[in-house]
Amino acid sequence: MIQSRGLRFAYPGAEPLCFADVSVAQGGTLLLRGPSGSGKSTWLALASGLLTPTEGEVVVGGQSVGVLAAAARDAWRARHIGFLPQKLHLSEALSVTDNLGLVFFAAGLPQDKAAVAHALQALDLAPLAARKPAQLSGGQAQRVALARALLLRPSVILADEPTASLDDAACAAAVDLLRGCASELNATLVIATHDARVVQALPQASVLAFDIAVPVAA
Ligand code: ADP
Ligand code: MG
Repeated sequence: MIQSRGLRFAYPGAEPLCFADVSVAQGGTLLLRGPSGSGKSTWLALASGLLTPTEGEVVVGGQSVGVLAAAARDAWRARHIGFLPQKLHLSEALSVTDNLGLVFFAAGLPQDKAAVAHALQALDLAPLAARKPAQLSGGQAQRVALARALLLRPSVILADEPTASLDDAACAAAVDLLRGCASELNATLVIATHDARVVQALPQASVLAFDIAVPVAA
């Protein structure tokens, strides 16, 4: 589950962003909805410990993220968070399979070839395993990034604008895939989006509406 209380973050020299409190049960879905620049990516960075709150806290799976020291935070993130970033950051020099293998390297774990094969299969990527990112369509590359995010079976999946460049059919497929993967892992799913199609596709989700939450004076 994810809970935040009095969460604020200020970039140097800027007014603080102030985030409304949220509480999402384990396995639930939270939409961060709001226009560009309203703070959605910042919220995801706070929930994954890439940024430390200026005030307040966010508790993810019982762990208050901001109190962890840097090294412990990296280990915690690798173990618990599956992050689907807006820019996918696939390594262009490596095949799809080797991009997935990097996850184990980064987490200091031995390579798990069976887990990679399972993820390729589950996301319909097995025929593309030997390709380099430049040889993939946008939707295929995103599925590789999602496979990478899910490899260590995270308890939380964070997706930043996952449908921004997708047509209606691909958008629906991406939302279904995210929701389906989260269900299989009983992971809590957080999607940052300004895409009305995503909001419509997930009527059961909790919504944190950024358009009314930020910014505030200190
Ligand atoms: P969103 O994801 O909703 O588009 P962001 O969280 O990226 O919003 O940004 C929220 C606000 O913080 C914006 O005004 C943005 O310009 C600012 N911001 C984002 N990243 C930085 C940064 N690294 N340094 C300073 N300001 C930033
Ligand atoms: Mg953003």
